[in-house]
Amino acid sequence: MPNPEKITEKVFQSPSKYIQGPSALKNAARYLSPLGQRPLVVVDNIVFEIAGKTLLSALSTAGMNPTRGAFTGEASLQEIGRLADIAKSSNPPCDFIIALGGGKTIDTSKQIATDLHLPVAVLPTTASTDAPCSALSVLYTPEGEFHKYSFFEKNPNIVLVDTSIVVKAPARFLAAGIGDALATNVEAREVRNSPNFGKGLPTAVSVAICSKCEEILFQYGQQALEANKAQALTPAFEAVVEANTLLSGLGFESGGLAAAHAIHDGLTSLPELHHLMHGEKVNFGTVCQLLLSNTPAETLDRYLKLMVSVGLPVTFEQLGLKEVRDEDLRKVARLACSPGETIWNLDVVINEDVAYGLLKAADAVGREYLARTSKA
Ligand SMILES: [Zn+2]
Repeated sequence: MPNPEKITEKVFQSPSKYIQGPSALKNAARYLSPLGQRPLVVVDNIVFEIAGKTLLSALSTAGMNPTRGAFTGEASLQEIGRLADIAKSSNPPCDFIIALGGGKTIDTSKQIATDLHLPVAVLPTTASTDAPCSALSVLYTPEGEFHKYSFFEKNPNIVLVDTSIVVKAPARFLAAGIGDALATNVEAREVRNSPNFGKGLPTAVSVAICSKCEEILFQYGQQALEANKAQALTPAFEAVVEANTLLSGLGFESGGLAAAHAIHDGLTSLPELHHLMHGEKVNFGTVCQLLLSNTPAETLDRYLKLMVSVGLPVTFEQLGLKEVRDEDLRKVARLACSPGETIWNLDVVINEDVAYGLLKAADAVGREYLARTSKA
């Protein structure tokens, strides 16, 4: 049931500063030095080669004293504890945290900063999720299953995006980010009477941000993907990076999530889908949400067209489910309807049978769309 506590305040929250551009990493010290002088830089080995060396040398040149914390790949409590120990045992101890990498690096770093009561700067190297700006982390088990949402008092102090690095990532990352960002307005507009992640109702600015996010994706999503494939920094690419990172981040946090993300959380329980990115699973959830919202056929087609044009999955087959077992779908539906799930922000009657039906219906709608458009 939405808003059981009858909250009447509106709340909007965001990072203190957002920086985006093709030389942001080289100029990072200018923006990061107010946070401290001895950052723990959480970065995995691959990203270290692509961007970590540039960042560390830029920080050192500016007189800062960074410590590298090698991230091993899972946003789990174990990994968070291990990296926090590195920050504490550095001599003198680190005085702020830098996350350099993708969603899991970022979620891990935000939790470390919270546990150690330190500021955090988030430097995403892909535009694949809307995690960077938010005051929450999604934590996983060491095996990669959804564990829980972790909520923080504060948003990251700084989010800094170097688009010359982001454009080098495979286009699949940008597409996944488009999937995550496309869910933002689809979900937020259904939960306006339900408290958001700031435990308040959405303000007019968050409604406007969600709608602008969607507008950019429809206008420039496909164009940006093509630019990414060519590793070309274009205005369309910059716009979609901003939509995926800033607009979607502010939009979902101060707007609210609903069925698409609850279905995503259920889908993480299927080992066959562990190869998928967050936004890819969310995208299938968005089709479910659109069906639950009784979206007219013409509008639904518009969404499916964008999804398919950027290679986002709209059927079980495209998700990678070779064999669709009924007990798996039941499990996904059950988890999507767990107590505390974002699906309960919706003001419609939902139970596990409804969620199960949505999964099957979304696949059917996706297959029908693909069959119809491939003939044309
Ligand atoms: Zn998401």
